[in-house]
Amino acid sequence: MSKRDYYQVLGVQRNASEADIKKAYRRLAMKYHPDRNPDDAESEQRFKEINEAHEVLSDAKKRSAYDQFGHAGVAGAGGFGGPGDFAGAGSFSDIFGDVFGDIFGGRAGGRRSNRGADLRYDLAMSLEEAVSGKEVKIRIPTLVDCQFCGGSGAKPGTKPQTCPTCSGTGQVRMQQGFFSIQQTCPQCRGTGQIIVEPCGHCRGAGRVQESKTLSVKVPAGVDTGDRIRLAGEGERGEQGGPPGDLYVQVQVKEHAIFTREGDDLFCEVPIGFVTAALGGELEVPTLNGKVMLKIPHGTQTGRLFRVRGKGVKSVRSQGTGDLLCRVVIETPVNLTERQKELLEEFDRSVREGGERHSPNSSSWLDGVKSFFEKMGF
Ligand SMILES: [Zn+2]
Ligand SMILES: [Zn+2]
Repeated sequence: MSKRDYYQVLGVQRNASEADIKKAYRRLAMKYHPDRNPDDAESEQRFKEINEAHEVLSDAKKRSAYDQFGHAGVAGAGGFGGPGDFAGAGSFSDIFGDVFGDIFGGRAGGRRSNRGADLRYDLAMSLEEAVSGKEVKIRIPTLVDCQFCGGSGAKPGTKPQTCPTCSGTGQVRMQQGFFSIQQTCPQCRGTGQIIVEPCGHCRGAGRVQESKTLSVKVPAGVDTGDRIRLAGEGERGEQGGPPGDLYVQVQVKEHAIFTREGDDLFCEVPIGFVTAALGGELEVPTLNGKVMLKIPHGTQTGRLFRVRGKGVKSVRSQGTGDLLCRVVIETPVNLTERQKELLEEFDRSVREGGERHSPNSSSWLDGVKSFFEKMGF
């Protein structure tokens, strides 16, 4: 079945403006819309035809392909693949993969970027070091210019030669179907030069592996996951390309007493139940000395006390975090007979007071009682 001309379908001239096409499409689409013409096969067909024509003519590229080549130029409108579809559906993406791979593969101006790789160094440090900051010396393996060939990779006394395959451009043209494709020269791998006699020391690479020592200033307040960038301290670029960067990745070791959350420090402090009951003062550690913590009488286990400003000084702002101490009441163990007697006597007297001395237990027991009653136990 031969297709109708798209301009005819929309009833417009071949030189119709975008606005004219849009107007014609709207009018016809309204007229033949399936909602307005239920169970009308002919209207449905017209509606499809109108949409297809509009899809092509409303798109400048497709319209121009249609004007030049007719329906063949926009084969399969609806599932429109563009002129590249000529080469067959399978190879279409392959061809573009090559072309785009070259364009987006870090290449500038058709030449390969020779920027060296970024390096990463994992720096483990204690919490104290992370909190106060520190200057550390690190040794990192890196690639440096070969001193024998001066980085050229060519045997001393010889020079790299212009690549005969690409005449030094680093690129070759290849015909692939309808496309002429620019590709990285396979012989020189885009550098435009080949080494006839390689340097014996670096085997032609122009770079050798070495260790270098760097001094890194770690600012106060860093935490696990923070990284410090040392610009230009990464791997050296190939053939005189710029070096990459070095990232020092901080890893703070676990601390015996403190755990860190943001700029706050947490610690758990065991207290005797007598101190908890009567109140008292408790010495707690901080990262820079001790502080006295006032424990009010009647303190329950798990209560959190905040010591302001004794956390970590933020690496990103002016603020300083707090120290949060969670008291945990310790039940006495290994009691003597005498101590047991005292506790039993103490227990009797507390029980006599009931709710007055043990509000939590009393309300819990009341809750259990009413629960049992409700359930009929
Ligand atoms: Zn060398
Ligand atoms: Zn080449």
